[in-house]
Amino acid sequence: MTTSAQLFEQACRHIPGGVNSPVRAFKGMERAPVFIERAQGAYLYDVEGQRYIDYVGSWGPLITGHADPDVLGAVRDRLDDGLSFGTPTAIETRMAELICDIMPSIDMVRMVNSGTEATMSAIRLARGHTGRDKIVKFEGNYHGHSDSLLVKAGSGALTHGEPSSPGVPASLAEHTVTLPYNDLDAVRACFAELGDEIAGIIVEPVAGNMNCIPPQPDFLKGLREVCDAHGSVLIFDEVMTGFRVALGGAQAHFGVTPDLTCLGKIVGGGMPVGAFGGTRELMEQVSPLGPIYQAGTLAGNPLAMAAGIALLEKIREPGFHDALGERVATLCDGLEARAEAAGVDLITQRAGGMFGVFFTAQRRVDNFAQATACDADTFRRFFLGMLEEGVYLAPSPFEAGFMSSAHTAADIQTTLDAAERVLATLGQA
Ligand code: PMP
Repeated sequence: MTTSAQLFEQACRHIPGGVNSPVRAFKGMERAPVFIERAQGAYLYDVEGQRYIDYVGSWGPLITGHADPDVLGAVRDRLDDGLSFGTPTAIETRMAELICDIMPSIDMVRMVNSGTEATMSAIRLARGHTGRDKIVKFEGNYHGHSDSLLVKAGSGALTHGEPSSPGVPASLAEHTVTLPYNDLDAVRACFAELGDEIAGIIVEPVAGNMNCIPPQPDFLKGLREVCDAHGSVLIFDEVMTGFRVALGGAQAHFGVTPDLTCLGKIVGGGMPVGAFGGTRELMEQVSPLGPIYQAGTLAGNPLAMAAGIALLEKIREPGFHDALGERVATLCDGLEARAEAAGVDLITQRAGGMFGVFFTAQRRVDNFAQATACDADTFRRFFLGMLEEGVYLAPSPFEAGFMSSAHTAADIQTTLDAAERVLATLGQA
């Protein structure tokens, strides 16, 4: 039988690090990543037939679980009509209508192929609209890997200890101002100095790329006020939070309206999709209506639209997000209780369908400095122990966890039983 270790060795010959995205590499985990063959509902199955309860969900898109029959059915129904036409299709309009209906801040939306493209395009639009160059982002927030945004970023960049990348010209990075997350005073001070040079603020309204860090009560509202006062564009990067923290995203959950919203993950139902949208005034400046250029050969791909629409329609069911949030709460509360019993310093943070587990004696984690102060080695041992127990967590202390509606009460109980055994081995009692 081919094992994950053999496949990884083979992969490393022709793929940098053996992976097509860095966080998959299990860096620092002292073992090869698990190679997955198939997945169903809440479960991943590896090449050796081992089953795992999955809390990654392809990093967020699969909010109803893997291989959802409704999503697969929608793709199957369109398959024989062709993969791509490079022309307008009715299904793109259906997707746009659906997004605008679910997120009232969006009057017009443009589909792209990834979250990276969504944020990159939104930044260009903010700059083009304001005629200003500077962008404010937050330390440990990840917005994909476009040059302007790969500055003090989270996620894989942080896991790999390279939050800013060589290859990003200093002359470009200098237009990106990075501030501590959840620090409104720092934002106000920055705008007091540079306000009329700042095109916009881009923020993860719940940070999910330095573990899971919800905004403090007035943080997002404060950003809105600062942007309004200085004529800057407020961009919510809801690639992760959109349709997950609540159906209408973090903006619905926290009641703060951005000018532009970036989407990805769930909007594609597991296919490579992103989107950016916002007010008519802003979006009318995008080509071909306006001068701000943006394009994509495969953007609005009919199969991807079919998958995304099927998923969005499904999660619009009343009560879907409440039930998901309750499951997340059960898991998080259960983990905290078991950690306490085992004498392990562990806290959880959550927002709707996403959560984070921190090995720390801190009571809350609100920013990058606090996230990176957590005990990474204890996380590593917990992660490896859980993997051994058949529970697949994100292989990094700087990633959020994701729950799906396919996770049953029994799956959560199995996870907590496993956690109890693993926590007992962590030796902090
Ligand atoms: N923004 C956020 C908040 C993300 O979490 C991610 C990816 N995890 C991106 C942007 C980039 O999306 P993609 O990987 O599809 O380019």
